[in-house]
Amino acid sequence: MTTPAALIRHNAPLGEKSWFGTGGAADVLFEPKTKEALIAFLKALSPETPLTILGGMSNVLIRDGGVRGVVIRLGAGFAEVQRQDDRTVRLGAACRDMKIADASALWGLSGFEFLCGIPGWLGGAVAMNAGASGSCLADVFVSATVLDRAGREHIITTRDLSFGYRTSGLPAGMIVTDVILRGAPSDPETIKATLAAQRAKRKQDQPVNTRTGGSTFKNPHGHSAWSLIDAAGLRGYRIGAAQISEKHTNFLVNLGGASSSQLEALGEHARQTVLQRTGIELFWEIQRLGDPL
Ligand SMILES: Cc1cc2nc3c(=O)[nH]c(=O)nc-3n(C[C@H](O)[C@H](O)[C@H](O)COP(=O)(O)OP(=O)(O)OC[C@H]3O[C@@H](n4cnc5c(N)ncnc54)[C@H](O)[C@@H]3O)c2cc1C
Repeated sequence: MTTPAALIRHNAPLGEKSWFGTGGAADVLFEPKTKEALIAFLKALSPETPLTILGGMSNVLIRDGGVRGVVIRLGAGFAEVQRQDDRTVRLGAACRDMKIADASALWGLSGFEFLCGIPGWLGGAVAMNAGASGSCLADVFVSATVLDRAGREHIITTRDLSFGYRTSGLPAGMIVTDVILRGAPSDPETIKATLAAQRAKRKQDQPVNTRTGGSTFKNPHGHSAWSLIDAAGLRGYRIGAAQISEKHTNFLVNLGGASSSQLEALGEHARQTVLQRTGIELFWEIQRLGDPL
């Protein structure tokens, strides 16, 4: 029996796979299991077809009308891990950030602890320059293998990117397939203790195990988004089943049955209220994709 090297579905439910659990369908959802299948698909894809790459879908709000064109999500075949030398590891872009953090204790390599509470996949962490606890992906990044939308492979290093606060400068349409990260040899027990401490802090400060998209807005220079929203009196504010978290005011939560339009309207309400009160503009960290209904 042969296993298909890819799954392709039309009008495929997409929003329900996101961390918010809201939003519409993808016109076409392509989930390759191998790099060869992905390259063949890209070579055959018309340059005019809109293309969206998604990973863990923990930093996106899929609008209720869904996403036009093709959405690509890498499958389990892109989650390989290869130790390269005493400091570097090669990882598939579908590796889960939290699993990388846990594995780093086994490898005896520190530098990846900050990934322990980030629910995305490695490709998304590169694209977003994900970070926490004072560290970010750029700190451990060596290089990545990427495919352009014609299916050609390129190796990129830090020099080819412009890593900044929650941004990498990765050109649109580039698909990260493999990443080489560098850590520093360290005592596994110390790494485990750091992971436990960071997880405990996150549990205390953030609504974990909730339908959310993480930090909604980037922190404006010299301010924290949560305190601006809190000072605007919006803690717990609701539009339908969309709520500004009681626990962390830079998190929007879907209490159950919220629509993406309610979540987006709630975020825009917070932005407008903070702007009117303080003159400070908040910018979305969560990426809003697709069309409204
Ligand atoms: C509860 C919660 C807590 C969070 N905490 C943090 C935190 O502490 N720090 C932090 O930085 N973020 C945090 N986030 C946000 C999110 O987890 C990160 O931004 C994460 O890196 C996104 O990865 P993803 O795989 O989910 O990407 P997605 O949400 O699927 O996509 C995000 C972006 O990455 C691009 N992308 C994804 N995969 C690839 C790929 N293979 N190649 C090219 N581009 C790709 C997409 O096109 C999109 O532009 C949190 C989110 C949640 C829900």
